[in-house]
Amino acid sequence: MCSGGGPVITMETNWFVKYHCNNCGKMFKAMGKTPTCPSCNSEDVVNHSD
Ligand SMILES: [Zn+2]
Repeated sequence: MCSGGGPVITMETNWFVKYHCNNCGKMFKAMGKTPTCPSCNSEDVVNHSD
């Protein structure tokens, strides 16, 4: 056991998903499974990532 001081690699998976609001038509990026539209707070959004 002579390991110590190794680099700690933290992979941050901060990938954003594009969403399109069906209520007001706004496109936005969000994280999470159930995002809400930042403009009208509608939950009627669709994943618009390609
Ligand atoms: Zn909206």
